[in-house]
Amino acid sequence: MTSVYVASSRCECQASLTAELTEERLPLHGSAFLMGKREPAPAHAMDPERETFDIGWLCPFCGRNVLRSFAASALPRKQKRKAPAAP
Ligand SMILES: [Zn+2]
Repeated sequence: MTSVYVASSRCECQASLTAELTEERLPLHGSAFLMGKREPAPAHAMDPERETFDIGWLCPFCGRNVLRSFAASALPRKQKRKAPAAP
């Protein structure tokens, strides 16, 4: 499975939470970023088949369970990586 969407939000502790989602909007992996440090953040989706659904992260920095609502049609598609320029 490959991720095609990226959902991101911010925790109350100011960590940036990111989850990569499949076409079915199931999180493949999540991460959190705070003060230059990136940590894995387990992410899960609730009712991902709905137009409005929730993604929950377990923030590794403060231990909060962060729940955010997303609109499926408004999810940003993951940017395709550019091929590195030939030397
Ligand atoms: Zn946090």
